[in-house]
Amino acid sequence: MKKFFINTYGCQMNVHESEKLAGILFRRGYERAQSNEDADIILLNTCCIRETAETRILGNLGMIKKIKEKRPDVIVGICGCMPQKPGNAEMLKKRCPFIDIIFGTFNMYKLDEYLDAAENHEKISEIWDKEDKTDDAPIRRDGDIKAFVNIMYGCDNFCSYCIVPYVRGRERSRNFDDIVSEVCSLVRDGYKEITLLGQNVNSYKGGAPEFSHLLRALTTFDGEYRIKFMTSHPKDFTIDVAEAMASSDKIADFIHLPVQSGSDRVLKAMNRRYTSEDYLNKIEMIRSYIPSVGISTDIMVGFPGETEDDYKDTEKLVEKVRFDNIYTFIYSRRSGTVADKMPNQIDLSVKKGRIKRLIDLQFEISDELAEKCVGKTYRVLCDSWNNGIASGKSSCDKTISFQSERNCYGEFLNVKVVKTKKNKLIGELE
Ligand code: SF4
Repeated sequence: MKKFFINTYGCQMNVHESEKLAGILFRRGYERAQSNEDADIILLNTCCIRETAETRILGNLGMIKKIKEKRPDVIVGICGCMPQKPGNAEMLKKRCPFIDIIFGTFNMYKLDEYLDAAENHEKISEIWDKEDKTDDAPIRRDGDIKAFVNIMYGCDNFCSYCIVPYVRGRERSRNFDDIVSEVCSLVRDGYKEITLLGQNVNSYKGGAPEFSHLLRALTTFDGEYRIKFMTSHPKDFTIDVAEAMASSDKIADFIHLPVQSGSDRVLKAMNRRYTSEDYLNKIEMIRSYIPSVGISTDIMVGFPGETEDDYKDTEKLVEKVRFDNIYTFIYSRRSGTVADKMPNQIDLSVKKGRIKRLIDLQFEISDELAEKCVGKTYRVLCDSWNNGIASGKSSCDKTISFQSERNCYGEFLNVKVVKTKKNKLIGELE
């Protein structure tokens, strides 16, 4: 029996797309290999959002070339958003002629057809396919209690630093009834945490007046489970969504709301279409509906032209919001984006200095927030258990470790936080 190995790079969207590729390969009768070395089919499901990801993928292709030299019958395929970046498919064909199949995110449902051709020693390079039938692909999920569900694809926002609208296309929402029926089946099959995925879930328009209607429809099934979603754009996050979240325990009290910068000048240059005040008002609105909400964000430092004062505005915003978690990034140039052509690109040493200061600041905040959790009880979904040590996430996305003699993996439990250890929460079963 033939074996496959999928190398996945990038975000949860790509992780889920790899589950769809795996679904097609299992349907073909193939089984999973443990590594590239013992696979007959090697796929690289790529991401080109950051330059570092692209560099890493090219490095890994060097290692895969050696496998192909030793075993010429191995089929190598590359897909995802990297080949869809203009010029990249040609570059890959030239630099890596050993690749058998090059395809994009729109036509992954054709993998069967491509493998038939590659087994006949044909080379395939097919990037755009407007049919976009990825939802028809069978899915082989990686987990048994957590699942991803796509609700939309693409993005219309054109933030000046971002390549996504160019490689993933314009926004397309999935049909409302299809999503409801997929989530219903997952709940029936025992999944406890379902994350709705989209580049900008708050602009969902697949047959419902707005995203909040979809959220409400997904809370109507029997049993205990949680709906999460990501990613939200601050300009599109509405009161209706906050109300829907507050109205049901089945929607997690957690929002990932990328702010990117606290400087209005930088936000304008990024084309984010909100000010720091708009963002702070939105946070206040969300907290008024869901006082216990957990909020995380993305922050990029060193955007072209970012001055020390701009950076300090970001620090001020972080101090005001007191995020539960921040994901920090150093701005890196992406050819094909507006920001790549902007003057005043910032020196790497300055960017590194700023990101370190920001991480240190957040560390202090996280420390204080963790202390405030001591004595509180959270409803935790246990997602790991090993020899009596368990851990899981609360509805507001706090990770809590606790002891349990019994294997409680996949169960919802009440856990009281009793102490902290370097920002980590330690609890006891109630
Ligand atoms: S909202 Fe902006 S950063 Fe997010 S995917 Fe769309 S263009 Fe990129």
